[in-house]
Amino acid sequence: MELQDLERRQAGKNEVNWVTAGFMAAFHVGAVAALFFFTWKALLVAMFLWWVSGSLGIGMSYHRLLTHRGYKTPKWVEYFLTVCATLALEGGPIFWVAMGKSMHHDTTTLAHYVPDLAKDKFHVWITKYHYVPMIVLGAILLAIGGVPFLMWGIFLRTVVGLHATWLVNSATHSWGSRRFATRDLSTNSWWVAVLTFGEGWHNNHHAHPTAAQHGFKWYEVDMNWYGIWALKTLGLAWDIKRVKLDEVERGLVPTPNGRLITRGVPEALVSGD
Ligand SMILES: [Zn+2]
Ligand SMILES: [Zn+2]
Repeated sequence: MELQDLERRQAGKNEVNWVTAGFMAAFHVGAVAALFFFTWKALLVAMFLWWVSGSLGIGMSYHRLLTHRGYKTPKWVEYFLTVCATLALEGGPIFWVAMGKSMHHDTTTLAHYVPDLAKDKFHVWITKYHYVPMIVLGAILLAIGGVPFLMWGIFLRTVVGLHATWLVNSATHSWGSRRFATRDLSTNSWWVAVLTFGEGWHNNHHAHPTAAQHGFKWYEVDMNWYGIWALKTLGLAWDIKRVKLDEVERGLVPTPNGRLITRGVPEALVSGD
């Protein structure tokens, strides 16, 4: 796919995309049907694949690596994590990163990365054929575990993952707490963070978009960060961008996207800027 095709598709995104709508409906029907095929093994397979697609894929690849370049990793790791991300049924990498640009982030920094991806033959190929890994996985699941593995590992798992991702742009712009006075309504939500492997620390993320670690305190559970940390420990991740909260508190870190809300100052007074 060429970048122009993407732009053309973007231009028409206000029209209902019947192909997408049809797949969404079919997956939701499949997710409900999966309840009639419950087995404990199928549940474990679904949970494992939720982590593979949601954390290794969407969180560690599409978002923190490809969109914000919060860390560096060998190309083969980048490609592997990207294949994991396609299993979330959120489209290919070039599409996802470009969509993110149009949703809520700083457009100037993000626009910078899409041409990079568009020059990479693998990313262009996988963006065009993003559904292929899902079909291959479905065939493997059917072969090794029959209909229960297929229903739970593909349909139910994908639908749960999609709704969790959507929470980041709904719930964490409505409910939760704010640590930084950003120019938006972004919040930190522990339960969205649990359901999205750490993406729920969304106010932290809006304030420091390139940081590869979104949980800024030890108890801010951030599975995506633990994965990046594991890569680092294995020597497979470097140049990792991080923000240390004590350095922010002491004013050592610039906060262009929203300053720290200090205790004792009513939020209403500081959130307006
Ligand atoms: Zn946001
Ligand atoms: Zn982001």
